[in-house]
Amino acid sequence: MTNSLKEMPKIELHCHLDGSMRLEVVRKLFREMGQEYTHNQLKERLCAPWNCESLAEYLQCFDLPIQCLQTYHGLEKAAFDLAAQAAEENVKYLEVRFAPSFSTGQGLSIRQVLEAVQKGLERAYKQFGIYTGIIVCGMRNLEMDVNLAMLKEARAFLGEGVVACDLAGDEKAFATSRFADFFAMARRYQIPFTIHAGECGSRSSIRDAIEFGAKRIGHGIAMAGDEDLKRICAGRRIGVELCPTSNLQTKAVTDFSTYPFKEFMDAAVPVSINTDNRTVSNTTCTKEWERLQEAGFFQPEYGRKVYEYSVHTSFASDDVKHQLLKT
Ligand SMILES: [Zn+2]
Repeated sequence: MTNSLKEMPKIELHCHLDGSMRLEVVRKLFREMGQEYTHNQLKERLCAPWNCESLAEYLQCFDLPIQCLQTYHGLEKAAFDLAAQAAEENVKYLEVRFAPSFSTGQGLSIRQVLEAVQKGLERAYKQFGIYTGIIVCGMRNLEMDVNLAMLKEARAFLGEGVVACDLAGDEKAFATSRFADFFAMARRYQIPFTIHAGECGSRSSIRDAIEFGAKRIGHGIAMAGDEDLKRICAGRRIGVELCPTSNLQTKAVTDFSTYPFKEFMDAAVPVSINTDNRTVSNTTCTKEWERLQEAGFFQPEYGRKVYEYSVHTSFASDDVKHQLLKT
């Protein structure tokens, strides 16, 4: 069965670039900068423990990889490598997200940052045939001006690599409701968006996200047990991006037996199954499916159903969606 889950065509809609760099790639990039790390040192710093204290602790694992994403070369290589990892396990379409504003520390402009990532993804498409799209993340802990300036630059890439925007970071410390200006700008620029919401307990965060016009919800675990929210998402075809391993690590769920995958499927909520962070959560899309299977949630028809939900709720062009549905 393991093999067939690996071979099963998959779509990944929620995957962070900085949290998904292979340790070997991080090591090489640091070496090029004159810094040596052993595999174990990197593992310790980049991979979150099973028992994270909180989402905030989980987010600390991003500090080191972000240092590798300050050059054109580093960004290009990381993007290429991530798409290669996905292609290896038969992911047909991948939406890669990251915060361009975190890569400007050594003088790159937002434009150059996006060009580099786009270039890496294009190289992967040529080599592996994997379709991709970039989601630019505004960050909850950054000044609004910085987030707005990033969005303004990203607008030029819409349809040219960039497919959407997102809001990421510590949801508890910085409530979704504070970001009305960010999403007003996104709507004005006609940049569709997903929002990390309801990851760790807050239903009001999900309501705010829907109110702002989110086409998808990142995690959305807090929706479990809320018939009204599930009905809204099913009715409006608002995608819910589930990331099982990450959701356990950040304590979005305490126990996998209560994971709401089947509950959402039964309510016709269009869910997708994602890694969130391949390295930080030490996972792959295949492993996420295996986890569902081990927990007894898997039914053979779910693979195709989730694939179709994922295509329909993706930010891909109609043309790409059409190609993906032929698979
Ligand atoms: Zn995420």
